[in-house]
Amino acid sequence: MRVQARSGYVDQNRRHASSLGNGLHRTLTKLHLAMLGLAISGIGMVAAKVEINSMSPAHFAEAMIGSVLVGLAAIAFACGSVRCPRCGARWVWMVVNGEAHDAWVRWLSDLRRCPKCVEET
Ligand SMILES: [Zn+2]
Repeated sequence: MRVQARSGYVDQNRRHASSLGNGLHRTLTKLHLAMLGLAISGIGMVAAKVEINSMSPAHFAEAMIGSVLVGLAAIAFACGSVRCPRCGARWVWMVVNGEAHDAWVRWLSDLRRCPKCVEET
């Protein structure tokens, strides 16, 4: 990502933000879908625990396994499809993989710029 002419830090950031524009919306939609999947998974587990007395052990196991599978699918989806529209960095994968250091909470909650592109520019 060093092909752009360098004309000052502020200008670089502005160009970066606009280049993320369209694709960023799609990426964030995918991220939100994955979070929804995780939320459903969590609700499913909590609901199964709350209702444990009125469920048979088999039903409880099914509910828990189903919830875990939904959660894992959501994480897998997020890892594979939530990518930087500009450089293709897998944002969620970077978090899971530990590449994003300790800043991940901040940039997952406020994904405006790609940490990889920002590092490179
Ligand atoms: Zn990027």
